Amino acid sequence: MKNFIYSLFFICSSTILSAQHTYPKDSLQQLLHSTLVESKSYIEKGKVADYIPELSKADKNKLGIALIDKQGKLYTLGDVHTKFTIQSISKIIALMIAVQERGEAYIFSRMGYYGTDQAFNSMEALNTRQKPLNPMMNAGAIATTASIIGNGDEAYQKILKMIRFITNNDSIKLNEAVYLSEKETGNRNRSMFYLEKNFGLFDAKGEESLNNYFKQCSIEVDAVDLAKIGYFFAHNCTRFDGDKTYYNPEMAELINSIMLTAGMYNYSGEYSRKVGIPSKSGVGGGILGSVPGKYGIGTFNPALDTQGNSAAGLYIFEKLSKKLALSIFR
Ligand code: GLN
Repeated sequence: MKNFIYSLFFICSSTILSAQHTYPKDSLQQLLHSTLVESKSYIEKGKVADYIPELSKADKNKLGIALIDKQGKLYTLGDVHTKFTIQSISKIIALMIAVQERGEAYIFSRMGYYGTDQAFNSMEALNTRQKPLNPMMNAGAIATTASIIGNGDEAYQKILKMIRFITNNDSIKLNEAVYLSEKETGNRNRSMFYLEKNFGLFDAKGEESLNNYFKQCSIEVDAVDLAKIGYFFAHNCTRFDGDKTYYNPEMAELINSIMLTAGMYNYSGEYSRKVGIPSKSGVGGGILGSVPGKYGIGTFNPALDTQGNSAAGLYIFEKLSKKLALSIFR
């Protein structure tokens, strides 16, 4: 009898587990709906970024989720066509290009693979180590973009071109007002750039190289674009429509692992425990998730928590991860 109860329990629990892995499609749309409704209460917990004045104009109530499944089918809910600036999410594309051109060893001899307990704009490691901690914090991202080969705005053009390719969306462009606002107020980023230049972290380059960083952050996307980029890294750099031009499992592995350790800044450790999805956030309000072998996910709401991550977006990722068993540690 006892054995019978045990085996019954085993059958039931494995059915529940496999049911989580093969979520019926119409209930996936329902899950997105209930998650979006619940996430609304988190908007009030956050605040729209205003340290870059132009960002403060974002509508706090815009909220959207986009998800692309393994077969490339897109699910959307809410304000998925609202445009916002990609901000720090652009750092994964810059890293991809810099590693393609220079190799991983070159890039990571100039910065670390460390996680962090510091904010995204911390300069501390530049003082203590003379090197950025990782390529996801501003210090590392500025050095990464400065390592991309080319003069003038070539590095930015390469990043824009790659984002347009991955999303198959040639309408993606710069938000000029945000760019000018970043450039005008970005003195903390500017000081990191000059410190790094002083340490010889990249070839002598002028301030146009820092401008490339400001420009890459000011590229406008929507939640669907983020889901497509998430899909790309979830599928060994295969595009959502199956295009394999940049197919590269090694690159996807690198980007996903760096996102997991540092993509959510000083929240990355807790996020790894609670969500377990390689993800990248930006102060424009976007979060991109790459669920290896499965989904690409993009969320948007510009109200940020104190660590610079979208509060509603965090809730959405945590909920979807739990409901769909998406943690890579499952
Ligand atoms: N452009 C922003 C900055 O440099 C990017 C920061 C972010 O998205 N966390 O401050």
